[in-house]
Amino acid sequence: MISPEVFEAMRPFLNASFGNPSSAYRIGREARSAVTAARERVAELVGAAMSSEITFTSCGTESDNWAIGGALFSRPAKKHIVTTRVEHEAVRNLCLELERRGYDITWLEVDQQGRIDLEDLKFSLRADTAIVSIMMANNETGIVFPVNEAAEIVRERSDAFFHVDAVNAAGKIPISVKDSNIDLLSISGHKFHGPKGIGALYIRSGIEISPSMIGGRQEQGRRAGTEAVHQIAGLGAAATVASDLSEMNRVRSLRNRLEETILTTVPETYLNGTVPQDLRLPNTSNIAFENLNGEVILARLDDAGICVSTGSACNSANKTVSPVLQAMEIPYSRAMGSIRFSLGRSNTEEEVQIALQKLSGIIEDLRRMSP
Ligand code: PLP
Repeated sequence: MISPEVFEAMRPFLNASFGNPSSAYRIGREARSAVTAARERVAELVGAAMSSEITFTSCGTESDNWAIGGALFSRPAKKHIVTTRVEHEAVRNLCLELERRGYDITWLEVDQQGRIDLEDLKFSLRADTAIVSIMMANNETGIVFPVNEAAEIVRERSDAFFHVDAVNAAGKIPISVKDSNIDLLSISGHKFHGPKGIGALYIRSGIEISPSMIGGRQEQGRRAGTEAVHQIAGLGAAATVASDLSEMNRVRSLRNRLEETILTTVPETYLNGTVPQDLRLPNTSNIAFENLNGEVILARLDDAGICVSTGSACNSANKTVSPVLQAMEIPYSRAMGSIRFSLGRSNTEEEVQIALQKLSGIIEDLRRMSP
């Protein structure tokens, strides 16, 4: 849920201060200064050198689509894109569509732990590469990718733009775009206790990509449309809360307890992506319950008041095996029974204890029933 500070930051812009930030009257000026303040807060969250490098969008998907589409439009002679097999659908499906429209995509593979090999990136770059897009942390496994090193490689060896989908990483691990060679970076409010329907794209100063929407002169002419001031104010407040990562140590220890207890006490369970702890987000565990159906586990946990997901949360209507687990060559008997546990800042020890108790009862029950 959104944090109380976020709710309070949004409230005035839904009633008394319902001005348009482009208008000169008082409530318009109030709205404009709220947008300016939020931009500064988001710039701080991602470590941008200047707040003018932040443009508000409607969500993470728009930021991802804009980064890639905007790069292609601005350099029409370049028809090659490099990305990974394990991107969120916001990047993956866009690249699949671009492939159908004649663009050439290099899909970087991952190993069985879900890691990319930077040597593959080096060999993939070409004179006609328009953009490289690599996520900061995978939304299903929590595996963190070496995006700073990847950005350096791209900068040294090509003039392609380097985009990072940081939707799942922002507010969980440190981000400092000014200390990296990242050109474009996407975030989304609902991933760090901000409102849904608001995101942002960081565009490094000096980088020119085509506008996201053409019309009015809002957002420095980069994205037309009257600003959703209440959403932007909420995103700004959430960014300030999320910039303080100290709570993540507590979340990490809760996650570790949850994960270690499941793996040591529930038979036939396996961690998907057994990389060292510091190469995973502090809040995510993706665990396979071999020979069980993840959707059934999810439904039983839901009945018990515990929300988990199979595959990407944005994808739970699609019942096929997750492309991320497929790319990691997780056997079908495990991939179908894989559950992603995501903890947040509001979770407590007691909730983890309850989840563990309920889960072990449900798994015992399902194993008794399964042949
Ligand atoms: N990228 C990643 C890594 C995500 O996890 C998500 C959503 O969960 C998105 C992009 C899409 O963000 P949004 O739902 O704000 O469009």
